[in-house]
Amino acid sequence: MKRLLLLVTTLILTGYLYAQPNDDNWRDGSAKQLKGKVFTVCCFVSAGKHSWKKDDKEVALYKLKEAYKWLQSQAESNGVKVNFYDTATSDDADIKVDKIYQWKGEGKDTGNLGLKVLQAAGHNNMMAYYDSLLQYTHCDNIQVILFAKTAGRSYACPYKKGMVKQHRYLECTTVYETDSRGTDFKVSTIVHELLHLYGAWDLYQSHSQQENVEKKSKSILGRSVMLDIYYGMEGKIVDEVNAWLIGWFPTYYPFYENFRPKDRY
Ligand SMILES: [Zn+2]
Repeated sequence: MKRLLLLVTTLILTGYLYAQPNDDNWRDGSAKQLKGKVFTVCCFVSAGKHSWKKDDKEVALYKLKEAYKWLQSQAESNGVKVNFYDTATSDDADIKVDKIYQWKGEGKDTGNLGLKVLQAAGHNNMMAYYDSLLQYTHCDNIQVILFAKTAGRSYACPYKKGMVKQHRYLECTTVYETDSRGTDFKVSTIVHELLHLYGAWDLYQSHSQQENVEKKSKSILGRSVMLDIYYGMEGKIVDEVNAWLIGWFPTYYPFYENFRPKDRY
């Protein structure tokens, strides 16, 4: 009886410790795992009389290229190959919308700017557009970046299995020209938000992350680009937990659970 009890207890404990993580839910959508060929649909978005200037578009595209380079070198140091492609130029016309939504906070309905912008660009059926992009680019992953001509807090809209495909499958991040203090967006802003599309977790304290997670992250994963977005890229890395999440690192370790946000089960 004792033996049986021990066996059952062991099985339960082992099952608990090695429970399969369900992050495959987040590895769906157009941005699956950050490897192989990645195509970026890049849109300059503006509303009313505030339009993007050619020079500012050039700066934005330069930062995007720097973000590609950084991600590529991080991937390489993890033994992973990734290549980025886009067709964006500073001559691209703005896509005009009536209103640029602001991020309202986790769990709140911000409104789907990505869908609105793609529709304004003439793509009324998101899945049909996604299929045509795949056919045209032969890429493994498609990501959308909206450069919004206003101040705001940049955010990402990753897709999770079960969401409405027509609205969310084509994974999109909105990068605002400046933050609320008027500081221009950084290369690290792009990197951070793009990583979210591939399933990366925030490591700083927020609505979905406890204070102790940030503390632990600072001591164990202190150089992570997911820990803060306000400083430069110098010394920053894609930490081990997020490298696993985005598909750079195959083995799951139970200690990763220490960093799982509340809303990621
Ligand atoms: Zn974040």
